Amino acid sequence: MAAYDPENIFAKILRGEIPSTRVYEDEDTLAFMDIMPRADGHLLVIPKTPCRNLLDAAPEQLAAVMATVQKMSHAAKNAFEADGVTIQQFNEAAGGQEVFHLHFHILPRHEGVSMRPPG
Ligand code: IMP
Repeated sequence: MAAYDPENIFAKILRGEIPSTRVYEDEDTLAFMDIMPRADGHLLVIPKTPCRNLLDAAPEQLAAVMATVQKMSHAAKNAFEADGVTIQQFNEAAGGQEVFHLHFHILPRHEGVSMRPPG
């Protein structure tokens, strides 16, 4: 697996070098709005420490990120009055990953409404 690249866009968001809409932050994790939302309220949750993807993650990073994913899933479902929540996570280019800092997508879902396509 390739090494972690500290110039990836989410590392820049963590360092405050590019803007983002932050919705939650704790010592270990950050949640912010996806710039190209595929559903209303589409959020991303990332660890604050370097990690390329799930295949590269330490158990402590996963524990912290998943706790925030659960917290943000409840918050997004309530805020957007959703019927459910889809969680997505991609690993390496062949697995659909485009930004190489571990992240989980949180997508509030409504009955009968399809997710919008990427882009
Ligand atoms: P993935 O690596 O395939 O999970 O896709 C990366 C995700 O990051 C996509 O949903 C993009 O819309 C999102 N994204 C890319 N750049 C930014 C940004 O600067 N702010 C917020 N989201 C971003």
